[in-house]
Amino acid sequence: MAVAATFNLNSKECQEKNADQIKNSQPQSSQPLDKSDNQLTTTSISYPHIFEPLDLGHTSLKNRIVMGSMHTGLEDRFYNYGKLAAYFAERAKGGVAMMITGGISPNREGWLLPAGGTMNTKADVINHQRVTRAAHRYDSKIIMQILHSGRYGYHPFVVSASPIKSPISPFKPRQMSIRNIKRTIEDYARAASLAKQAGYDGVEVMGSEGYLLNQFMSRHVNQRKDEYGGDIHGRMKFAIEVVQAIRQAVGSDFIILFRLSVIDLVQDGNVMDEVITVAKALEEAGVSIINTGIGWHEARVPTIVTSVPRAAFADYTAEVKKHVSIPVMAANRINMPETAEQVLASGKADLIQMARPFLADPAWVNKARNGQTNLINTCIACNQACLDHTFENKRSTCLVNPQACYETELVYEPTKKPKNIAIVGGGVAGMSAATVAAKRGHKVTLFEEKDILGGQFNYAKVIPGKEEFFETTRYFLNELNHNKVEIKLNTKVTKEMLDEGNYDHVIVATGVVPRSLIGKLEGADNPKVINYAELLSGEKEVGDTVAVIGAGGIGFDVSEYLTARHGQPLHELGPETLKDPSYRPEPQGIEEWMQEWGVNTDVEYQTDGGLTQPEKIKPARQVYLLQRRSGRLGKGLNKTTGWVHRAHIKSHGVMQMPGVTYDKVTNEGLWITTPQGHSQLLRVDTIVVCAGQESVNELMPAVTDGKVKDGKAKGGAKAKTQYHIIGGAKLAAELDAKRAIRDGAELAAKL
Ligand code: NAP
Ligand code: SF4
Repeated sequence: MAVAATFNLNSKECQEKNADQIKNSQPQSSQPLDKSDNQLTTTSISYPHIFEPLDLGHTSLKNRIVMGSMHTGLEDRFYNYGKLAAYFAERAKGGVAMMITGGISPNREGWLLPAGGTMNTKADVINHQRVTRAAHRYDSKIIMQILHSGRYGYHPFVVSASPIKSPISPFKPRQMSIRNIKRTIEDYARAASLAKQAGYDGVEVMGSEGYLLNQFMSRHVNQRKDEYGGDIHGRMKFAIEVVQAIRQAVGSDFIILFRLSVIDLVQDGNVMDEVITVAKALEEAGVSIINTGIGWHEARVPTIVTSVPRAAFADYTAEVKKHVSIPVMAANRINMPETAEQVLASGKADLIQMARPFLADPAWVNKARNGQTNLINTCIACNQACLDHTFENKRSTCLVNPQACYETELVYEPTKKPKNIAIVGGGVAGMSAATVAAKRGHKVTLFEEKDILGGQFNYAKVIPGKEEFFETTRYFLNELNHNKVEIKLNTKVTKEMLDEGNYDHVIVATGVVPRSLIGKLEGADNPKVINYAELLSGEKEVGDTVAVIGAGGIGFDVSEYLTARHGQPLHELGPETLKDPSYRPEPQGIEEWMQEWGVNTDVEYQTDGGLTQPEKIKPARQVYLLQRRSGRLGKGLNKTTGWVHRAHIKSHGVMQMPGVTYDKVTNEGLWITTPQGHSQLLRVDTIVVCAGQESVNELMPAVTDGKVKDGKAKGGAKAKTQYHIIGGAKLAAELDAKRAIRDGAELAAKL
């Protein structure tokens, strides 16, 4: 059976299945809209399947939403357990039924990072008790994930089924001896016993994403000739013995989840028959819930980035569910209630796991329950502040919610002295500052020169595969209205207006403009030359052959926009469509996405790891992507997403040209000098400039320490006004939504 062709809410399948409910539950397009005052009113929505309790025998879950395991960096150090407890308490308060901690190792060999979180002594129990008490205070179950990294560990003690190095760790593993396997099984059982003593409601055994037990289960790593290798019965023996030992150690009144890889997405990975064999054996061994994992970390198919369609892998979970009688949980790219409800309603899974969406919004469940779907701060699957931080060994947080993992440090206290605050600029920095300031009780006026809020996000969200960014502008718009921020669109603010406005604080969040090459490159005023903002607002058209100047994040985005086969060109939609807050482009369908990436769409797949040959793509245009620096393009892109962008432009035939010099633009095209010193004409119809940005900050008086120089704003009368500058207006060079949103929130938290 093939996967559902598409799982987006505009799909025919969804509409036919539950038309009324989907219509009502869709934050994107179903709310009554009063464009005159930018109000999006929330509707009364119910998600009957999400809020149905689940009986587990000895206990029950109050709803079907589980917060999945997420490494925050707080679990690795005992002195951070207070912060970790506050982080879980916030999510428990938000209504989630069950939460799973970040991976805790059963022993030293299993560490992900040196001196990572471990559970193997009584002293560990005391730290963990802080976490379990916090969760139970709000009636949420809490599960400790036991994660042995195997060859993914980033330290010299790594072990695995066979001594085969992984491509994502520099350390070659030692092959585990049978004695070591037996000892490790005992370590798992001891970790589970200690978890029970610490007050956890259960444990999750991590057996997917390419970690140790997954390494044993798959021929990709397991080349053993002994009883723990060979066919699937040998390869799964370690995992099954781990579960049996845990069950024996903890008794029957303790939840055991097993995260099972349902599609490995690596060469020599398991086929679906083998996955089902393991699932049945896990049930037999005493597992309470099967959680489904998708793809190994080293897979060449993206599984969680924003361009992966929502609920793309739910059909593989459904296939496993057919063969076991215990509850099965779906995961990966489920971030909004309507998607979760649809997966549950269609019987594909019994539970929904989301990890990053709870970083973005700890109150996700309560908002879904209370008909406030429009106020959910949606995870846009950017990885920028969570997984990228993990790889940089930094504490996780969230691009759209800077409070995540900083619950005790970034606090939005109600103000005792309400102030009159003007915020100039309605990009994400300004909207973030306005939301927090108004939430705290200040009187806030938000000015925007254009007739639409969102700033640079309005360009990002129209890139095919970045449709989730619409959710962020939808969220902020609703939050601003909810918190009674006065919004003044189409308003070009002057210094005189600010002087006359009697403001206690002025926050300059006027953002950036694209860097122009006029005066820097001969012919840059030729009509062939446009900038990315003109392209991505639908203001200007492009021809069939295009040169993109600048290969930063935006140059890549633009190249993807120009070559993608799906999505409607913006100039055809017209700028008015993009200004309509209820507009959503149709995301790529699941089947088409899978064919592009070489994933077997047959859920009973018999190809290794569920892989097939990626489809050859005919790009929408011929694009040349250029940069002056030599070396690989896209080096500066983020760790966990950059490779997806690089793979995309490669598969879409983008000609990558590093080390060039731009000479001039003529009616024939762009003249460059190649790294070898040859003059070359790129005969292109259009040249899109993506050469970075410049700050717009002329409203900011000269400042020292955030205060107007000599204590007076120009105009004398309003000398008390304090000026502040945030986001791209402050620093264009590192134009970064993560910093912009955090800048706004941190400043507003202090005013
Ligand atoms: P950027 O990353 O700074 O890249 C600008 C590019 O323009 C550089 O590659 C630079 O390359 C070139 N350039 C600079 N000055 C130039 C000039 N005078 N003439 C010709 N070329 C020039 O800026 P961006 O692409 O606008 O991105 C802005 C920010 O947005 C980034 O910090 C990034 O974090 C974020 N972003 C990220 C993503 C993503 O990760 N997918 C997507 C969008 C935005 P050479 O000097 O080598 O030519
Ligand atoms: Fe989601 Fe991005 Fe926040 Fe991570 S940083 S939780 S991916 S929105």
